[in-house]
Amino acid sequence: AKAPVRVLVTGAAGQIGYALVPMIARGIMLGPDQPIILHMLDIEQAAEALKGVKIELIDAAFPLLKGIVATTDAVEACKSVNIAVMVGGFPCKEGMTRKDVLPKNVPIYRAHASALGEHAAPNCRVLVVANPANTNAVIFKEFAPSIPEKNITCLTRLDHNRALSQIAVRLNVHINDVKNVIVWGNHSSTQYPDASHATITTTSGEKSAGELIADHHWLQNEFITTVQQRGDVILKVRKLSSALSAASAACDHIRDWLIGTPKRTWVSMGVFSDGSYGIQPGLFYSFPVTCQNGNWSIVQVFRYFYSLTWPIIMLSTMTGLKIDEFSRTKMDATAIELMEEKSLAYSFIDQ
Ligand code: NDP
Repeated sequence: AKAPVRVLVTGAAGQIGYALVPMIARGIMLGPDQPIILHMLDIEQAAEALKGVKIELIDAAFPLLKGIVATTDAVEACKSVNIAVMVGGFPCKEGMTRKDVLPKNVPIYRAHASALGEHAAPNCRVLVVANPANTNAVIFKEFAPSIPEKNITCLTRLDHNRALSQIAVRLNVHINDVKNVIVWGNHSSTQYPDASHATITTTSGEKSAGELIADHHWLQNEFITTVQQRGDVILKVRKLSSALSAASAACDHIRDWLIGTPKRTWVSMGVFSDGSYGIQPGLFYSFPVTCQNGNWSIVQVFRYFYSLTWPIIMLSTMTGLKIDEFSRTKMDATAIELMEEKSLAYSFIDQ
């Protein structure tokens, strides 16, 4: 039998946490044969609720769940964890903007990063969910120098899944037949859901979304705004923000990262920019990535060039996917927002 994997969920008594922990304990994140020890952290005010979650987990009698650590002590919570899903954070209440939650989340992410940096298992993988997710990831990286940046990511998979679903609904095809949408940039209203490289499997082979959806106006307008504003729609009807779909997306993110993305399929993940696609290095920016052997890499494609002189030498170079002007503008706008958030976050560190 496999050795158990220790998975930490911060903010575990919150609504995403409540949806997420049973999914992890059921094997949805790491597979049906992977035993789990769940570490759950929350703040003092949520200690009683956290106790309740622990009792329910025990009562659910999950065969894969080999142990539960439920605590308000960050050091105890972080001990030897292999995967950390950071959901805990100050929520954006009515009338608040992301700029208002940043000063509250900077110290939280600083504390959690230090605790994980010192106490997590080697090669611990981190997924930041709490908003502003990309910028919380920047703070996390700053204060966990022992955790390599390739092990720190943030969640844009819910946006990615929403984009896949919008295309599937529009074309009346099954979700499994749609792939390779991209969510670029920030997990915020400036994100750029891009269907220009998306493909659909049909009985007559693979077709591009642009070929099947003749209404390009829809692709460049309603498609984008529907995905961007989906969170607000849920909030309006449910009177609560999305939780089950966010938890499910967190499972998809970790599963694809550790187990690998299917062949010729990429997913969107917020990762440390290396300057690919002209995005400023050092930002956590959502890119199309493929994963193999527990590592992500930003999608690059081979382009071949042939020299004209004898002897003919074939040269190849790695470049990104083709980006048109429409996409470029949107990708840059969301990068600018991230740069602003990052410098604002640093101003709270220095205080
Ligand atoms: P949720 O579980 O609903 O959300 C948690 C975080 O995830 C929020 O920051 C939320 O952002 C974010 N998020 C990211 N992506 C999504 C998405 N696609 N849909 C919805 N949310 C998303 O919040 P709760 O308030 O129920 O739970 C938060 C938990 O954190 C509580 O248990 C609380 O006790 C704990 N907490 C911990 C703190 C600490 O560690 N010091 C401080 C404050 C709270 P958004 O708000 O923008 O929706």
